[in-house]
Amino acid sequence: MARPLPPSLYAATARPATPTPPLLRDRRASVAIVGGGFTGLSTALHLAEAGVDTVLLEAHEPGWGASGRNGGQVNPGLKLDPEVVSQRYGEALVALSYAAPDDVFALIARHGIECEAVRGGTYRAAFGTADATELRSLAAQCGERGMPVRLLDAVAMRVATGTGRYRLGMFDPRGGQLNPLGYARGLARAALRAGAAIHGDSPVTSLTRAGAGWALATPGGVVTADRVVLASNGYTGGLWPGLAQSVIPVFSAIVASAPLPPALADSIVEGRGVLYELGEVTFYYRVDPAGRLLIGGRSRSRDLAGPDAFRFLSDYAIRLWPALHGVAWTHGWNGQIAATLDHMPHLHAPAAGVLACLGYNGRGVAMATVMGREIARHLQRAELPMPAVPIDRIGLHRFWKAGVAVRLTYGRIRDHWATRRSIYVGVPSAPASSKAASVESGSVPVDDEPTATSHKRHSGSLADG
Ligand SMILES: Cc1cc2nc3c(=O)[nH]c(=O)nc-3n(C[C@H](O)[C@H](O)[C@H](O)COP(=O)(O)OP(=O)(O)OC[C@H]3O[C@@H](n4cnc5c(N)ncnc54)[C@H](O)[C@@H]3O)c2cc1C
Repeated sequence: MARPLPPSLYAATARPATPTPPLLRDRRASVAIVGGGFTGLSTALHLAEAGVDTVLLEAHEPGWGASGRNGGQVNPGLKLDPEVVSQRYGEALVALSYAAPDDVFALIARHGIECEAVRGGTYRAAFGTADATELRSLAAQCGERGMPVRLLDAVAMRVATGTGRYRLGMFDPRGGQLNPLGYARGLARAALRAGAAIHGDSPVTSLTRAGAGWALATPGGVVTADRVVLASNGYTGGLWPGLAQSVIPVFSAIVASAPLPPALADSIVEGRGVLYELGEVTFYYRVDPAGRLLIGGRSRSRDLAGPDAFRFLSDYAIRLWPALHGVAWTHGWNGQIAATLDHMPHLHAPAAGVLACLGYNGRGVAMATVMGREIARHLQRAELPMPAVPIDRIGLHRFWKAGVAVRLTYGRIRDHWATRRSIYVGVPSAPASSKAASVESGSVPVDDEPTATSHKRHSGSLADG
């Protein structure tokens, strides 16, 4: 039984979907895809454009999963630093991941996808000293690779974000934002136009060998295909042994405000850029083209809906920007990302003709789009951009959910006590004038001790957007 979309801002505002009726007969295909998020839709689109007979099966509707619920941040790069990615997988994957926003915005332009896309850049923001150190290291690594990033000191961050929360930021102009459900629907429409078949309300209930190929059973019919792509990410069930246990499904939540007065909207993240914080319990946010603030962070591990279910998000926003007092919060929703223990996406080829790709660790808007394209190319004989690895079940998997909850509670308590005096570790008040953000020149002014953060990666914790 197909489940409705969560009551997100996107469900209320995205362009309507092109119908994708359920599969109601048996049929053959060259490639069958399980899952209608960015990974599956991009694979279907690129295969169909190459003339490959492709069927995509989605349990609910395209964009129902994380792809239609996320923060809409089109961010360059992966969770790990370029140096680490380069050492493990080679420089080409670093380049691919940092160029991924280019590919997303090019795809949107090529297919005329109406999804409120704005390319205002990505800010990575540090309030802890350890995070600031890691951010400097990241900026150096990006700079060595000729990437157009720049560091912003606390004053510049105050100007760029309207809050004195941050001691350091890194701006990357390649990032941007979009309405993710609108984007998913646009990809589906483009794939259908290119000749792919997409069936919503068609959960794949079993995957079995059928001669040299595979049979995918749904309640309305069976697809027999030469090759199969599993693209179910944080919503992976038991279709392939061990796949669900190879990732940790972590919930992330978002609340959206009513459109803000223009001056207030413009003061939060300059140029409609997007921002994500580095640290243990972190937040991410953007102001959309209609002037609504969308702010997200980790959620309790079950489906919840409505802005009141996520008061900690709006409360945090009000602490960042006291002028938000009294603003209406209209939507709140959550969804599941797939986290991996090595913080990298995983490609698997567990049997002849079967590929799986999942585990974007909250960095999937751009990367899943690109991985879908790369999988499509691979199915036409190109090399994969990263090696396919064996499916590795995470030990004591069923206890991870409880583990994430404990860590979340601990992080919140610690954050609460550490920030009781002030959350402003950058500069406490706005500079008198000037919107011209200064580039960091060496030392960062520090007014207060930062909140204690101890993460070991530059780019946020398990459940950030
Ligand atoms: C709240 C939230 C905020 C986020 N913010 C950001 C962000 O700002 N930037 C960013 O880069 N990333 C973000 N992410 C992560 C990003 O959304 C994901 O990495 C990305 O959407 C993954 O796409 P996907 O296609 O792999 O998986 P999904 O979009 O999750 O799609 C998987 C699909 O598979 C389907 N499925 C599962 N099993 C079956 C089956 N047996 N048969 C048929 N269909 C099946 C599901 O119904 C689902 O629609 C966020 C995620 C969440 C939840």
